[in-house]
Amino acid sequence: MTPCIELRNVGKYYDSVTALSDLSLTIDQGEIVGLLGHNGAGKTTTIKLILGVIAPSRGDITVLGHSPRARQTNNLRMQWGYLPESVSFYEQLTGREVLEYFARLKRIGRARCEELLAQFALSQAADRRVKTYSKGMRQRLGLAQAMLSSPRLLLLDEPTVGLDPIATRDFFTTLDQLRQQGTTIVLSSHVLPGIEQHVDRVAILGSGTLHAWGSLPELRRDAALPLKIRARG
Ligand code: ATP
Repeated sequence: MTPCIELRNVGKYYDSVTALSDLSLTIDQGEIVGLLGHNGAGKTTTIKLILGVIAPSRGDITVLGHSPRARQTNNLRMQWGYLPESVSFYEQLTGREVLEYFARLKRIGRARCEELLAQFALSQAADRRVKTYSKGMRQRLGLAQAMLSSPRLLLLDEPTVGLDPIATRDFFTTLDQLRQQGTTIVLSSHVLPGIEQHVDRVAILGSGTLHAWGSLPELRRDAALPLKIRARG
C-alpha cells in the first residue's frame, strides 16, 4: 500500500530548543493515527511539518506523494484538511455564512455546504451567529470547514479538548464514518482514554522524541509500555 505520510529522521530545532528530534513514521492511507503526548511533546510541530507550514531542520517528509514544502498547486492543497488547536471564526457570521465564505475561496459550490451542515448536525443552527455556538458546535463547524474539499487527509490538533463526553463520542462517530470513506486522519491528544477505541495506531511523543509507535495491542504487549501510556493519560 502506498503510504499517505512518510517522515524520515525528521528534526525541528529552534535555536537551543529541540521541538522534534529524529522522528520516523509511516502512516498508511485510510488509517486513524493518534499523536499522544504531554504539553510541549512535539504534537503540533509534527502536524505543522506534515502541513508544510514549517520546514524541517533535518530529514524528509512526503505527504500524498509530494513534499509538503514544494510549491503547492490548488489541487494538492485541496487534498488535506486541517483543524487547528483553537478554531477561530468570524463571530458575527452565521455557521452557513462561515462555510460559504471558505467554500467560495476554494471554488466549491453551496450544495456542498448544505451537505456538510447536515452531516455535522448543524442544519438547524446554520442561521445562528457563530458567537452563540457551543464548543462542540464550533468543533463540528471547524471539521465541516476542513472537510469542504472532501480531503483524503485530515489533520486535527487536539480536536476534543473542552468537549463533554457526549460531544466527544459524537465527534468520534463522525471520524469513524470519515475513515470508512477512506479518509486518513491524524489527531493529537494529551490523553489516550477517549481516543483508544478509534485509533488504528498511536505515536507516543515525549520532549520531541518518539517513545513508542504501533497499534495498542502491539504496544500493550511491551511490558514496559502500559505504564507509560497510563502516565500520559
Ligand atoms: P501542547 O500539547 O502544549 O500543544 P505540543 O506537543 O503540541 O504541546 P509543540 O507545540 O509541538 O508541543 O512544541 C514542542 C516544543 O517546541 C515546545 O518546547 C515548544 O516550546 C517548542 N516550540 C514550538 N514552536 C516553537 C517556536 N516557534 N519557537 C521556539 N520554540 C518552539
